[in-house]
Amino acid sequence: MNAKPLQPSADFDVQRIRRDFPLLARTVHGKPLVYFDNANTSQKPLQVIEAVDNHYREHNANVARAVHQLGEEATAAYENARDKLATFINAGSREDVVLTSGTTQSMNLVAYSYALPRLKPGDAILTTVMEHHANIVPWQLVAARSGATVKAAPIDQRGELIVEKFFDMLTPEVKLACVTHVSNVLGTVNPVRDIARECRRRGIPLLVDGSQALPHRPVDVQALGCDFYALTGHKMLAPTGTGVLWAKREHLQAMPPFFGGGEMIREVRFDGTTFAEPPHKFEAGTPNIAGFAGVGAAIDYYQSLGFSAIRAWEHELLIYATERLREIPGLRIFGEAAEKEPVISFLIEGAQATDMATLLDLEGVAVRSGHHCAHPLMQFYGVPATLRASLAFYNTREEVDAFVAALLKVRKLLM
Ligand code: PLP
Repeated sequence: MNAKPLQPSADFDVQRIRRDFPLLARTVHGKPLVYFDNANTSQKPLQVIEAVDNHYREHNANVARAVHQLGEEATAAYENARDKLATFINAGSREDVVLTSGTTQSMNLVAYSYALPRLKPGDAILTTVMEHHANIVPWQLVAARSGATVKAAPIDQRGELIVEKFFDMLTPEVKLACVTHVSNVLGTVNPVRDIARECRRRGIPLLVDGSQALPHRPVDVQALGCDFYALTGHKMLAPTGTGVLWAKREHLQAMPPFFGGGEMIREVRFDGTTFAEPPHKFEAGTPNIAGFAGVGAAIDYYQSLGFSAIRAWEHELLIYATERLREIPGLRIFGEAAEKEPVISFLIEGAQATDMATLLDLEGVAVRSGHHCAHPLMQFYGVPATLRASLAFYNTREEVDAFVAALLKVRKLLM
């Protein structure tokens, strides 16, 4: 990990920012909450909560169906979120931004609509050992149906992808490569731009799982040079049930619809139905309209703070938390990549992760314990579970201190 702060963050007023997040002020088991489970889901600022509330109070109607005023307002809020998302990830065109319920749906859309029709026995999908199950299981399901296989590129003990191995594994039978931008367990940032370049040289499409990247760093999908980029709203301040699949136009044009129903058709006839153009072709049924009103507000919130300030503060917190954790005897950190986001997985010798998390909860500290939907990564490290502290820009050094004090207390109880 780069141990130098990115830039001074003196003007980052974290206490002012925290006042935007009402939940951070609550207590848990009589203790002030320390919320370090941000990689699981982020907390929501008032601006997002109010956008959702305002939608239901003032604008609630279905999208793209009604010609009345409310219908137009609801459609505007939904389509406005698409515009903001397109700008946020530099999509090139709003038409290339498919609104989904989250990364999992985005991945499954690619699996069933893009991969399955193309795969044949002997083909392969290449992923990595550090992936979330959402970037493994959909590929296994379509591989099982088509006679293809799923291969996983290795990582090293520091939790970095062995990039040369990944490139070696980009053999002609690989029809799709899938890699996470940032690991949800290790915080590792993968060199997706280099990976995309090598995939392009070999004519292999690349899907990037951006779930854990967007909360921490600006993303430019065109500059990355990938073919597909998936993201989930609830990890980036927005409501649950919101997400995106961005894809290159040529792929969206070629992909058949996955879900059928209302909204995604041009004309329905029993002698042959025709479909809407992308992205609507992939958006059957009534979407999470209020949720996407919240997405718009979440993007505005990120932009009001600016990623350079967010990144500097989070990096400072990551360095501080890592140093403080290293003071604890018997503590092992999983994931020491040169470039990482503020996610720290660890174990303390002699203590079970779940016992620790349960006792930490009694101290008001919310961390995740378990396999983090990354069984193959746990198998790689030979452990059933880890504890994971995942930080956000609204966390503080004082919370890190409270977390470390709670860990020391809990460790004593369990030893
Ligand atoms: N990919 C990564 C790296 C994740 O961390 C997660 C969620 O934890 C997902 C995919 C799945 O996201 P969702 O459950 O929002 O679809």
